[in-house]
Amino acid sequence: MLELRNIKKNYYVASETVEALKGVSISFRKNEFVAILGPSGCGKTTLLNIIGGLDQYTKGDLFIKGKSTKEFKSRDWDSYRNHTIGFVFQTYNLIPHQTVLANVELALTLSGVSKAERRKRAIDALTEVGLADKIHNKPNQLSGGQMQRVAIARALVNNPDVLLADEPTGALDTKTSVQIMDILKSISKNKLIIMVTHNPQLAEEYANRIVKLVDGVIIDDSNPYNGEDQPKGEVLTKNTKEKVNKAQFKKTSMSFWTALSLSFKNLLTKKARTIMVAFAGSIGIIGIALILSVSNGFTEYIDKVQEDTLSTYPIQIDNMTMDMGNILADMEADSKEEVKVEDGIITSDDSLLKLVEMAQKMKEQALVANNLKAFKEYIESTDNIQKHTNAIQYVYDVPMNIYNNEGLKVNPNDVFQVMMGDDFEQYMGMLEMTGMSSMILQGFNVWTELLDNEDLIKSQYDLLDGKWPESENDIVIVVDENNQISDYVLHSLGLKDRKEIEDLLDKYAKGEEITYNETMYTYEQILDLEYTLVLPYLNYEKNKETGIWTDISKEEGFFDKVKNDENGAIKLNVSGILRPKEGASATSISGSIGYLSSLTMSFDEKVKKSDIYKEQLANEKINVFTGQEFYGVEMLDQIIELVILNLGYDNEKANMLRAYADKLPPAQLAEYINSLFKQNGIDMAIDFSDFETNLTKLGHIDYDNPVSIKIFAKDFESKEAIADEIEKYNASVESPDDEISYTDMIGTLLSSVSTIIDVISYVLIAFVSISLVVSSIMIGVITYISVLERTKEIGILRSIGARKSDISRVFTAETLVVGFAAGAMGITISFLLVIPINLIINHFAGFPINAARLPWGGAFILIGISMLLTVIAGLLPSRVAAKRDPVEALRSE
Ligand code: ADP
Ligand code: MG
Repeated sequence: MLELRNIKKNYYVASETVEALKGVSISFRKNEFVAILGPSGCGKTTLLNIIGGLDQYTKGDLFIKGKSTKEFKSRDWDSYRNHTIGFVFQTYNLIPHQTVLANVELALTLSGVSKAERRKRAIDALTEVGLADKIHNKPNQLSGGQMQRVAIARALVNNPDVLLADEPTGALDTKTSVQIMDILKSISKNKLIIMVTHNPQLAEEYANRIVKLVDGVIIDDSNPYNGEDQPKGEVLTKNTKEKVNKAQFKKTSMSFWTALSLSFKNLLTKKARTIMVAFAGSIGIIGIALILSVSNGFTEYIDKVQEDTLSTYPIQIDNMTMDMGNILADMEADSKEEVKVEDGIITSDDSLLKLVEMAQKMKEQALVANNLKAFKEYIESTDNIQKHTNAIQYVYDVPMNIYNNEGLKVNPNDVFQVMMGDDFEQYMGMLEMTGMSSMILQGFNVWTELLDNEDLIKSQYDLLDGKWPESENDIVIVVDENNQISDYVLHSLGLKDRKEIEDLLDKYAKGEEITYNETMYTYEQILDLEYTLVLPYLNYEKNKETGIWTDISKEEGFFDKVKNDENGAIKLNVSGILRPKEGASATSISGSIGYLSSLTMSFDEKVKKSDIYKEQLANEKINVFTGQEFYGVEMLDQIIELVILNLGYDNEKANMLRAYADKLPPAQLAEYINSLFKQNGIDMAIDFSDFETNLTKLGHIDYDNPVSIKIFAKDFESKEAIADEIEKYNASVESPDDEISYTDMIGTLLSSVSTIIDVISYVLIAFVSISLVVSSIMIGVITYISVLERTKEIGILRSIGARKSDISRVFTAETLVVGFAAGAMGITISFLLVIPINLIINHFAGFPINAARLPWGGAFILIGISMLLTVIAGLLPSRVAAKRDPVEALRSE
């Protein structure tokens, strides 16, 4: 069965050589009970470990079933230990955190036996040693004799050919010793048992062969064997030998699940420590998870706002616009210039020059005229832009003269004018200069045409009372989410009169206390409101004698005179009250009173039928209001020079005015110049009217030429696509004057906010990653401590046939479990922390937002990262564990 030929074993301690075995030659029979006797330190354990393949001999050869082991690789030894050898130690060497059953099953796990089979065989082995009722106990709940029986059961469960027992009764009392010896004796009937003992009586009584060892050499053998009584059938032919070898030396391997369960149970025995380690490991994860949550929550919030905002703030292209984009781009380009730094030298910076350049640029470039006529044609001729939109609204200059039933003109509203008093003209002049007037005035226009996209409106508004508008006579009033209407709108509805403002201003001037009196209206009161739209042509009456049309709109009794005009006076009724839906942070109606586009259409039709309009249309040269010819554009330059002269402008101011005259349309220029006159106390007014402005004044709507185009993008991507399309359009137009320019202020603002959040998140994540690395190093250290603590277990596993890689697998599994626990704990804590964080942010933000939201994908990735990091951290300790010498490992306590 086994044959040792001149086995020598040296231990090298420091510079000394210990000769533990000095040339041992011995053969063993297939079935016999051999006792090895000898004094302490004579080499008994060494001999046993070499026979069991736990230790390697220095010289000589060991033959297993006739096969030399000189060429054995370490996995051959592993397999040999697992399948051929069973070890029983003096100190039992059970794994304390595993049950009795699990301890016994372990060896079977290594040899890849199925779970059910494993259980059955383990229970059988335990029954054989009389421990069937203790299988679910932990080793520390058993007596010494019982533990040794568990060890025997474990040694036998794999049905090995050889059982090696190293002083199995050394720690037991006589009575228990006898029980153990009886068990061993009965096993020896069909196995080879080699037992080390220094109890000669027991050896005499139970063994059938006694080998005496002194100082590393055999001095006596009571029943020597030299192979001759080997049964005939055992002489192996080459063929059968290979077969046996194959079966016998089937590779062992521990499944990953076994490794996981071993580690898991080990960790369970140290719950408090495991939880603390996992918590320490989770801190980095918590940090990253929270940063992720907040930035994710904010990004989501911004995206939502952005989408909502898209409908309120469409891409708006006005016929006159300030190109802020150009100016901002210039500023940015300037600030990016690199400056060389030289030690010891101070250079000058050209800030002032830049400022001057910037001012110049603003003057030259800021005001841009857009050719909306050509652009509208383009939009309608292709699908390029339309396919990205929910709606496109063309805004026209429609003079909405609206009166209430008392004959008070409520629109255009003069509240602003009353408020600004004498400063109004100057103020408007200033706005005109910067091109901001239309933008500002938009904000004061409370009567707006509703979008034709009914679904979009219905998706954004609740109907509080009344009905949705259907005909040109229907208007809707829009209140805010608190059912409020601004007092400014109340003026535009005629519900407050201008005297109130005058009183207010008066009080303010006198330094009196101003109190705000809230007024209340019922839905019925609002729904009862009625108005009359007076078409602009009714403002003029033809003088029978001169044939000139004069403005009668400021005359007493004007409204009564025109209010029943069949065509020119259109009755308007409030049909419904709208309120923005809850959660819709932005909505598409920019004013507070909305009318349908059919009203605009009807307006246009009626205007075209009017006498004054027809008369003007018929004669392009003569101004119907003066009966004289229009000023030609060629007059413009002369008038400007006249103004410059009259106002005593210096060169710079004069040039500015000339530049503006080139850019502003005549009517606007006239308005501006007239405001200049008024400011300077010059009682003069210039009429720059031309054929077209006159038609507009009479209510002509030039459908081909909107004053503004509002493009409502479907979503954020569409908005970008539209921007790209506009760029393409600009590249395609022939004249640079036809290029379209607009500023997407909201988009720029929001995207820079989200960029800032991104940057902050990255910086924070970089910081927190450091804590992640630190905590994984800690987990590595703790794993290393665990390796030190579990040295004995490593030895036990190796003694029953675990490979080096199995050992490192056990510790890798352990770090995986810790990493998972740390990750899961971190994510759970983060999810919990997100709740108060949101409450706090909501509290300070003053409106409900989910500012922190941990995405599930991110959570899983973070758990994965945690596991990966801990596994990396555990690589070194688990390699250390794998490299441990099994003999030394077993010897450790
Ligand atoms: P025993 O007969 O008591 O079981 P051992 O086989 O344990 O004796 O030891 C035999 C000799 O080898 C002793 O002198 C012991 O000190 C020495 N020895 C055993 N193992 C080692 C080791 N790992 N390193 C150095 N010396 C060892
Ligand atoms: Mg010993």
